[in-house]
Amino acid sequence: MHDASSRILTQCPLCSEKYGDTDIRLIEDLGTSRLFHCACASCGNAMLAVVLEASGMVSSVGMVTDQSAADAERFREMPPIGPDFCIAAHGDLEERSFALCQAVLRP
Ligand SMILES: [Zn+2]
Repeated sequence: MHDASSRILTQCPLCSEKYGDTDIRLIEDLGTSRLFHCACASCGNAMLAVVLEASGMVSSVGMVTDQSAADAERFREMPPIGPDFCIAAHGDLEERSFALCQAVLRP
């Protein structure tokens, strides 16, 4: 891992346990910004963290996620969701919510 990133991603923000060497995975490296997936072996929660470096300053933004590191790599390749998709998904939920509940609750 990059030096600055390794200094900033040292412990789980949810339980404060230190991350192990294999808990943090670099998902995307765009030079001055890097996306990491951090999985805490202690509490089981995961986080996506963007680490930004500019003019010698390092900052980070973290977001708790239920994605695995493999999910994060897979979704990185996918196109962003647009407004048409959101409207269609809303329509489907309105019109077929019973079928959706049946599918989700099916053992
Ligand atoms: Zn934790």
